[in-house]
Amino acid sequence: MSDKLERIKTLIIGSGPAGYTAAIYAARADLKPVMYTGLEPGGQLTTTTEVDNFPGYADGVDGPKMMMDLQKQAERFGTEVRIGMITEVDFSDKTGGIHKACVDNSTWIEAESIIISTGATARYLGLPSEQRLRGGGVSACAVCDGFFYKGQDVAIVGGGDTAAEEATYLANICNKVTMLVRGDQMRASKAMQHRVTSTKNIDLRYNTEVDEVIGEQVVEGLRMLNKETGEKEQIEITGLFIAIGHKPNTDIFKEKLTMDDTGYIITEGKSTKTNVPGVFASGDVQDKIYRQAVTAAGTGCMAALDAERYLAVVESEEGEEVKTTKKVEA
Ligand SMILES: Cc1cc2nc3c(=O)[nH]c(=O)nc-3n(C[C@H](O)[C@H](O)[C@H](O)COP(=O)(O)OP(=O)(O)OC[C@H]3O[C@@H](n4cnc5c(N)ncnc54)[C@H](O)[C@@H]3O)c2cc1C
Repeated sequence: MSDKLERIKTLIIGSGPAGYTAAIYAARADLKPVMYTGLEPGGQLTTTTEVDNFPGYADGVDGPKMMMDLQKQAERFGTEVRIGMITEVDFSDKTGGIHKACVDNSTWIEAESIIISTGATARYLGLPSEQRLRGGGVSACAVCDGFFYKGQDVAIVGGGDTAAEEATYLANICNKVTMLVRGDQMRASKAMQHRVTSTKNIDLRYNTEVDEVIGEQVVEGLRMLNKETGEKEQIEITGLFIAIGHKPNTDIFKEKLTMDDTGYIITEGKSTKTNVPGVFASGDVQDKIYRQAVTAAGTGCMAALDAERYLAVVESEEGEEVKTTKKVEA
């Protein structure tokens, strides 16, 4: 590492709703935030055309447009948005000192505080027909997109707690929900399984996989494969929900921060503090329960306020130290 590293007050890693909201608050608190966007500037919402549930957009908003608005708002207060990926971090100073981050495997920078907002990535099946119809009826978020299929027939793939919860959520809105479980039983808790099996309009299919999603521009149907019998069956649906899990984008923080067994960063109580002083986490990277733009934005706000309070304490302690040293010297 060179001696002349750039030193910034607040580094924000990630440019989704959490990162931009943290940037707005941090910039207005004069923390002079620098944001690195990562490979997906704007985050997950740039992959969707309709966001109907973010407060303030009475007529709904296109995902990429909403993220451009957030970027403009963050830049209006002086956030510096840089295209780049943080590829390594050095949090070895556990006393609340200066942390380091490496950009694009080449340049190290120093930061007095860091807000991690690197989000999570939804897992998909990987079928070509599924990928082609993402945004055309294939979705990884029932709470986000279920409303668009009100009164219609849909299907959901997955057998864990999230899939079970999303299936019952969809069953409330939609006419019929076909649920495809790969194994001969669900992985969901007994209570969640009971909710699914006691919901009349959920048609539960075990040992069943997606063979192909039917439709050119939009989902029109689903061909299912029963793995036990080898039989294929086609049903008419307008929406397909994939609920086979998310992967938090935390690889670079492994063994540097405390995480749960699925890789989500653990934050302290009702705060965004990680186990390393001066490092905060907001958005989907620390939330496997709600995973919504508005909750990500809410924790982004919290992270900036936590960072601001942390830096204020550090600065006042440094001030006290200088005063004490001067007294001793005098
Ligand atoms: C198809 C789809 C539709 C959705 N629709 C809705 C909806 O209608 N309403 C709703 O509320 N929610 C919706 N969601 C969920 C919502 O998008 C997420 O909850 C929200 O985007 C999470 O925000 P975030 O800021 O935590 O992370 P993300 O939006 O995931 O952003 C993460 C950011 O981190 C960056 N990054 C990752 N690693 C690095 C790194 N090493 N260095 C630098 N940057 C990095 C990425 O480039 C990205 O910019 C939808 C999600 C999907 C996938």
